[in-house]
Amino acid sequence: MNKKRKVKLTGKEKSELLGEGVVTIVLLLLLNLSLVILLNLALLQNQDLIDGIWIIKQAISISSNWNLYSWQNIFIGFMAVVDFIVLYWRLIRRYHQMQMRHVITELHYIAEGNFDHRIDFYVKTDLQKVIDSINSLVDSTVKAMQEERQIEQSKDDLVTNVSHDIRTPLTSIIGYLGLLHSGSVKSEEDARKYINIAYVKANQMKALADDLFEYTTVRQGPTKLALAPLHLNSMLEQLAASFELEAEKKNVTITATVTPKELTIDADAEQLGRVFNNLLSNALKYGKGATEINLIARKTGTNEVEIVVANNGQKIESSAVNKVFERFYRVETSRSVETGGTGLGLAITKGIVESHQGNIHVTSDDDMTRFIIHLPIKQNESEKVEKHSEKNR
Ligand code: ADP
Repeated sequence: MNKKRKVKLTGKEKSELLGEGVVTIVLLLLLNLSLVILLNLALLQNQDLIDGIWIIKQAISISSNWNLYSWQNIFIGFMAVVDFIVLYWRLIRRYHQMQMRHVITELHYIAEGNFDHRIDFYVKTDLQKVIDSINSLVDSTVKAMQEERQIEQSKDDLVTNVSHDIRTPLTSIIGYLGLLHSGSVKSEEDARKYINIAYVKANQMKALADDLFEYTTVRQGPTKLALAPLHLNSMLEQLAASFELEAEKKNVTITATVTPKELTIDADAEQLGRVFNNLLSNALKYGKGATEINLIARKTGTNEVEIVVANNGQKIESSAVNKVFERFYRVETSRSVETGGTGLGLAITKGIVESHQGNIHVTSDDDMTRFIIHLPIKQNESEKVEKHSEKNR
């Protein structure tokens, strides 16, 4: 924690305080003097007052040795205490005003554009609450500015990545179409080969455009979900069946196990289908040497399910495990070129899972690579209402 200091008074303020003290003392002395004179005059001229004091003195049985001067002493003592209190009150009041002035100066400094400036002194009055509020405002402003900067940076990265990923296939397409266009292709076989390459590259660009669209849609948040009860066993079995042919070609068996069998969750079937499609096709594409892919769903809490997509293929290096969900991240560029990925698949997957108020992570070792998803069984009521009204619009 920062070491806080008290308000540091300037030389001018110190002399102001000193001046205030001197003026107050002089005024108080004059007041005291006039009060003593007035009292003396009153006592000398008024016998009834002397008698009155005498009676009071007797009633509270103070020593008879006391004379009028002792009463004066008491009065002077009393006045000295009052004077001290008044002096202290005036000085402290002025000191508090100076503290306030310091806070205002700091506020002006912040308002001039120094939004990350915190007030680093403390005071012992209620003004501290104001200082604390200003400081927390500064903290949240700094946080918001950092987030803004990150978003800006992330947008720049997105543009850089997208332009790079578009430029690479586009350069090939232009190159091969250029050859065809200039008529410098020697044989029909070559021409077919070039057209084929251009076609594959154009498809790569389309996949990127589709993924980008999907990615930006997912990032728009949970209001885009069309929630309905989803029977997990049916969905996972359907998915396993749709990948069966591809899996057979690679000698991979896909199994789906759901416990309990009737496990049903609130989800957007289309979106969640996309999640498992991504994970399954990744397991087939990247899980080199895998012989099995297991889809396992089970109830892990009163309102939680865990769904695991596991394969026993080549592991993801530990340095890459934390990065695979980053957009455009690909473990190996060469491999991605070969597999035609955009590096957006897992970013989209994560976005969809999070929009369902869930989370996803990956573990990978020599035995298994597991993508583990946790989802609530029942979605937040407010979201359902929101979705319902959106559907009815
Ligand atoms: P893409 O959209 O290009 O397929 P993803 O975002 O889906 O990219 O995946 C990012 C990277 O994570 C891939 O390049 C791949 O190397 C790695 N990866 C994803 N799933 C698996 C898996 N099941 N086994 C091994 N590596 C994987």
